[in-house]
Amino acid sequence: MSYKLLDGKSTSLFVQEEIKTEVDRRIANGDKRPHLAAVLIGDDPASKAYVGHKVKACNKVGFDSSLIERNTNISEQEVLDIVSELNKNPEIDGFIVQLPLPSHIDSQKVIEAVDPSKDVDGFHPENVGKMSLGLDTFKPATPAGIMTLLNHYEIDTEGMHAVVIGRSDIVGNPMSSLLRSNTSPGNCTVTQCHSRTKDLKSHTLQADIIIAAIGKPHFITDDMVKDGAIVVDVGINRISDPSKKSGSRLTGDVDFENVAPKCSWITPVPGGVGPMTIATLLQNTLKAADGK
Ligand code: NAD
Repeated sequence: MSYKLLDGKSTSLFVQEEIKTEVDRRIANGDKRPHLAAVLIGDDPASKAYVGHKVKACNKVGFDSSLIERNTNISEQEVLDIVSELNKNPEIDGFIVQLPLPSHIDSQKVIEAVDPSKDVDGFHPENVGKMSLGLDTFKPATPAGIMTLLNHYEIDTEGMHAVVIGRSDIVGNPMSSLLRSNTSPGNCTVTQCHSRTKDLKSHTLQADIIIAAIGKPHFITDDMVKDGAIVVDVGINRISDPSKKSGSRLTGDVDFENVAPKCSWITPVPGGVGPMTIATLLQNTLKAADGK
């Protein structure tokens, strides 16, 4: 089968162009620039890279951005104080606290300290609850970005059987919620699999859409995918590659080379879900600025 790419890179540029046009319109109107702040604790290279991409994307669309960096040994109370300041600061429309946090800090406590009206990651229980009820709110950027990508390519998912692999609060759980919702795209029959699922392959082989959010390189192999399936690869895994100058490269959870020929549509890694996550964070920030 000849497959088509769900090109997250070009779709995210399209979304960013729309946002930039809206920002230009606001500035011409004398309105304030949307302002996103990011809190980065510690020196995890992947987190640093993700936050760097987010700040760069803000600048590209004309947002103001602030990066608040602190050492790993910061106390939980000090992080909560930063969150409290950002909640109060009228200049800041929305902010994110990059996860994971160091193990001595209770991430849930920090997430719950964020003002839901500035929670552009959509992780606060109030926003998670609203999303589950189908109410208007901030949706977590990765699954919402996947919905935008499916919509951009006019993929009609109604009635499809979607198999989501993963049950994290940032990807698997909200993804299942969005795919089963009465929306377009959406209206799928969803099976959610996880580390305790028995005979994963028996589920994935029934899937019209597979969302792989596991964090294990090349975990989804061609024998697990039925002909014509749509495959969305959320995974970002660094593997060694002596042919690269750095000695490593990024790869997804799907064995792209062997799986792609069986698919109708598939996302590449990189250039698939990652850029859509960033574009959606920008959309959420614009929405937060609207709430003012
Ligand atoms: P996580 O570790 O929190 O969750 C992984 C999930 O995989 C778990 O829920 C677990 O139950 C499931 N799992 C593990 N082993 C399994 C197995 N053998 N069979 C079935 N399920 C199994 O990770 P996460 O935060 O959800 O992220 C998943 C991946 O997506 C990671 O590679 C992460 O880097 C990537 N990610 C990418 C983006 C993006 O923008 N592209 C955003 C967030 C996360």
